[in-house]
Amino acid sequence: MDTLLTTARLRGERAVRASFAGAAAPGNGRRTVFDCEQGSFLPAAVLARPEDGPESVDESANRAFDGLGLTRDFYKEVFQRDSIDGRGMRLDGYVHFGVKFNNAFWDGRQMVFGDGDGKQLGDLTGSLDVIAHELTHGVTEHTAGFEYHNQSGALNESISDVFGSLVKQWSLKQSAEEADWLIGADVWTPGIDADALRSLKAPGHAYNNALFGRDPQPDRMSKFIHLPDTEEGDNGGVHFNSGIPNKAFFLTAVGIGGFAWEAAGPIWYESLKVSGAEAQFQDFAHTTFQKAGELFGVGSAEQSAVLAAWQEVEIPIRGVPTGVVRARNLAANGHGGVGQQDGLAALTKQIGELSAKMTKLAKDVNALKATR
Ligand SMILES: [Zn+2]
Repeated sequence: MDTLLTTARLRGERAVRASFAGAAAPGNGRRTVFDCEQGSFLPAAVLARPEDGPESVDESANRAFDGLGLTRDFYKEVFQRDSIDGRGMRLDGYVHFGVKFNNAFWDGRQMVFGDGDGKQLGDLTGSLDVIAHELTHGVTEHTAGFEYHNQSGALNESISDVFGSLVKQWSLKQSAEEADWLIGADVWTPGIDADALRSLKAPGHAYNNALFGRDPQPDRMSKFIHLPDTEEGDNGGVHFNSGIPNKAFFLTAVGIGGFAWEAAGPIWYESLKVSGAEAQFQDFAHTTFQKAGELFGVGSAEQSAVLAAWQEVEIPIRGVPTGVVRARNLAANGHGGVGQQDGLAALTKQIGELSAKMTKLAKDVNALKATR
């Protein structure tokens, strides 16, 4: 209860701070880790490790330091993004927050880690994907700004899982096939083997235990969970329905193959940068399809993988007939001929071109409206 209340209050802070996004002091992404010594008043925390300082005697402080650094370096090297806000925002981390606090979160300005109660959650600094998940909320705030409720909120959560997993895959140099696609495997229910907080590969199958029951995440639109847009309803199920776009990303990444941060990652990242705050699943699916065409070519294997992935989670891209993707899936499974694949490539190309024309038309119409 204490964790829930504290997190809700700090999430509120995050929302407020996001609206002052421009106010953050630049700091070349420099890290500073502080020790809360089990307190929950951040200004009282003591310095544990500055960017240029020696290693701390506290392993939590070192793990937080490393996690912040790997996430920052991932965004820099893979997307040429300068820290969370793209302008070198400093990264402050607070460890040992509260007593047995079962959470880690980014409050809009800093990253806060609880120690966990050792039963439901272990020390939250021990999970790179959880750290990257939280920091990515900052990236989302400074880009699309997906509103934290219903489908846009589930997209917000999904983006954090996607890049959270990518940071881990990148740090371990794992291909899409090799990766475990799990979030929080190393900190979730430390006493229970082989489970995690969420799975992008198999939403709904991350855990099944006496403590929490079964992972309730849906992996397709027909299983979408309708919850009230309240705190108790998880703001319309943002941590539930994120399973749907999560699965779409996983399918895209394995559909393309190789390192997920090289093709699927850029498609999602570029889509995040151009999406609106109220985007729905359908909008985001459409944007990724378009971006895949822009980045890798209309009708490319990458764009076809995006198309098939969204189709699989029952979010067909507008204007693409269902049968086309089935034909592609058959071809991909080895049951179809080469001709079928070629036919699909040509069709995907046509659709991509049409979609580009539509976007241009929409822009023209908006421009016309603006001049009236
Ligand atoms: Zn989150």
